[in-house]
Amino acid sequence: PDGKKRLPPWLKTRYPTSANYNRIKSNLRELKLHTVCEEARCPNIGECWGGGEHQTATATIMLMGDECTRACRFCSVKTSRKPKPLNPMEPESTAEAIARWGLDYVVLTSVDRDDLIDGGSAHFAETVQLIKQKAPQILVECLTGDFQGNLEDVARVARSGLDVYAHNVETVEELTPFVRDRRAKYRQTLRVLQHAKEAKPSLITKTSIMLGCGETDEEVLQTLKDLRAVGVDCVTLGQYMRPTKGHMKVSAYVTPQKFDHWAKVGEELGFKYTASGPLVRSSYKAGELFITNILR
Ligand code: SF4
Ligand code: SF4
Repeated sequence: PDGKKRLPPWLKTRYPTSANYNRIKSNLRELKLHTVCEEARCPNIGECWGGGEHQTATATIMLMGDECTRACRFCSVKTSRKPKPLNPMEPESTAEAIARWGLDYVVLTSVDRDDLIDGGSAHFAETVQLIKQKAPQILVECLTGDFQGNLEDVARVARSGLDVYAHNVETVEELTPFVRDRRAKYRQTLRVLQHAKEAKPSLITKTSIMLGCGETDEEVLQTLKDLRAVGVDCVTLGQYMRPTKGHMKVSAYVTPQKFDHWAKVGEELGFKYTASGPLVRSSYKAGELFITNILR
């Protein structure tokens, strides 16, 4: 069931309008920052940038370039065996721009850089430290890859001063080899999430699952249990959408009722929050949800 014409009504999106959204958008032009929100044309931009009830604006910034050393079957980022070298000025310029921007919550993410000895963990850590130096009130989440299971890299990011450590499991164990790049492993992802918490127990850990890839309900339930077993605090579930015809097909459009069901299950299992809905993405209203469910 692929193709825009056949999209179920709950996947049609609204056009963002809000004063906060417009302010952030015009600041962004001056700061020359690139957000995943805009580049991926994320349907949640109005809600994330406009802030919710608490006027908490969230945006996602991509570090370390736009060429990834991996090729997940659901992802539209370009693959390259040898991406461009890191820009050593990026942590400073990104931190400066974020500090001036007036955001409340920033998600720093990146392509996977298996070509770098430390997977880019020092670059992530430096960016977090500089943001916290310049604007300590900004809440910082890092959404990282698995660093090929190198736990020293995970710990370097976990201890950098960030508030939330996110790494996405993306799908159930059974589908992992068909959905994610072959170097990504389900158990490795669980270890990364567990180790982030061990390296810094006060951290909040978070992950995200895409539904509609062919998973069964039992498999989703098992995944949620596995995540809780390694202490993951927050989970988001959203519908997989095929970026182009060259990508993995959508195998089902999961109904809003089913997403509500998973939200309930997540709550019963003891997650601090479970954001579950067709349009929910990993960083969906991350700031708003953090303030409502974790700080209060
Ligand atoms: Fe996309 Fe991340 Fe997979 Fe790279 S590792 S292809 S950026 S999902
Ligand atoms: Fe940006 Fe993530 Fe919100 Fe989409 S869900 S607008 S990428 S912060």
